[in-house]
Amino acid sequence: MKRIIVLTMMMVATTTFAQEFTEQDTLRGSITPEREWWDLNYYHLDVAVDPDKKFISGSNTIRYKVLKKNQVMQVDLQPPLTIEKVTQDGKKLEVVNNGNAHFVQLKKKQKEGDFNEIKVYYSGPPKEAVRAPWDGGFSWKKDPNGNDFVATSNQGLGASVWWPNKDHMYDEVDSMLISVKSPKGLMDVSNGRLRKVDEDTNTYHWFVSNPINNYGVNINIGDYVHFGEKYEGEKGTLDMDYYVLRDNLEKAKEHFKDAPKMMEAFEHWFGPYPFYEDSFKLVEVPYLGMEHQSSVTYGNQYMKGYLGRDLSGTGLGLKFDFIIIHESGHEWFANNITYKDIADMWIHESFTAYSENIFLDYHLGKEASADYVIGTRTNIQNDKPIIGPYNVNTEGSKDMYYKGANMLHTIRQLVNDDEKWRQVLRGLNSEFYHQTVTTKQIEDYISKKSEIDLSKVFDQYLRTTMIPLFEFKIDGNKVKYRYSNIVEGFHMPLKILIDGKSQTLSPTADWKTQELNGDLSTLKVDRNYYVDHKQVK
Ligand SMILES: [Zn+2]
Repeated sequence: MKRIIVLTMMMVATTTFAQEFTEQDTLRGSITPEREWWDLNYYHLDVAVDPDKKFISGSNTIRYKVLKKNQVMQVDLQPPLTIEKVTQDGKKLEVVNNGNAHFVQLKKKQKEGDFNEIKVYYSGPPKEAVRAPWDGGFSWKKDPNGNDFVATSNQGLGASVWWPNKDHMYDEVDSMLISVKSPKGLMDVSNGRLRKVDEDTNTYHWFVSNPINNYGVNINIGDYVHFGEKYEGEKGTLDMDYYVLRDNLEKAKEHFKDAPKMMEAFEHWFGPYPFYEDSFKLVEVPYLGMEHQSSVTYGNQYMKGYLGRDLSGTGLGLKFDFIIIHESGHEWFANNITYKDIADMWIHESFTAYSENIFLDYHLGKEASADYVIGTRTNIQNDKPIIGPYNVNTEGSKDMYYKGANMLHTIRQLVNDDEKWRQVLRGLNSEFYHQTVTTKQIEDYISKKSEIDLSKVFDQYLRTTMIPLFEFKIDGNKVKYRYSNIVEGFHMPLKILIDGKSQTLSPTADWKTQELNGDLSTLKVDRNYYVDHKQVK
């Protein structure tokens, strides 16, 4: 883990993309000394939501283990929300603010190995979502019957947009209680399982018994009705529960049949659903959707595809509800295996974009899945690298979705053994079970498990915008070929077809000559490899 933290530096610029970062970006995006000394153990977020005033108020109890001595603790909360007070053992503490970062001055001596708690009281009108879930915050909406329909979403922006916490992804809380006081007559659905309801105050208490990342925590308030099913999965009986607006119940019962189909395909390819203890839920929301852990939010309007559109242009994208499949795929890649730094967001989005074609592979076969993932190449921009700059809470290119998926599809060809490839994907989910990770851990694991050194493949596709160009020249019964537009040392076997028959070449940066049988004018590059090709004279 790189740790370059210079708090006094006002501006940090990266030469590569000429993006400028502020001290606030560093406070938010790095493991500061005021964060690294304590390990999150438990949160009790207790919040009252008032849609009429667009106002929230409450507290978060933070229990932590002292890893090394320090008396200053960083807690994040974004304006216009304000911290009213912070206490430890009932005593009020001084807090020094620096923008979104609040430095709590602890009085009690923090001894290594101790478990301590602070309680942060806060209130205010949280930032309203502009275009949830991308530009998130609170969505204060109404359902068609005029009932309040409220939801939170905050990936990237950070959970501190609506509740005080350690707003960095490297440290996940081990378990969490979420108590939400909702308007009378409406229900809150959050993560994990419903433990109890206080009828007098209409407060819903949800308990998450597994580690959860900050952006996964959510509140959804609406006129919900519930239905559910028991799914017999790899780890036993899984509760699959669905919360939808009252008027959508019949529609949802039909439409959510994609959910058990999703579970079957993903357990096969990725391993057991990672949160049996907390159940699986789909929760209707007034925005498109988000991978909130064990309460995947759904707003795809009960349409197939992505709001009725097929992102692959092949027709196959209309065979499933994009939000049910994609957002649930994140239970494995985002919620089970979580990036430490958002710069490595490909770990979430490349695998999950890839999961869309894996779903098709399971239900419609290998050719259909290949058609789909290859079809999504039209969405690739190659504008900047997939991996972003570190320690400043900044993600890389949107190509992390479909270029990433096509890189993984290419690696499947290199592995050339689908059962082995499946064991790589399942192995990732057991090796990094409930962990936060770096890209290096993921890359190294895939290379090791597949027994192929893929380091240059990852460098090429994740760290540059260059697409390998396979150049070839036909001379009688010989073909001359090489790769250009590659990183140094890039070598990747490539399948070509001659007379429709497949054979493997081993191009590098240097021209090679090889004698081949068949009509060389029919030479084609196997479409499953994400490379460009050009015949040179
Ligand atoms: Zn996603």
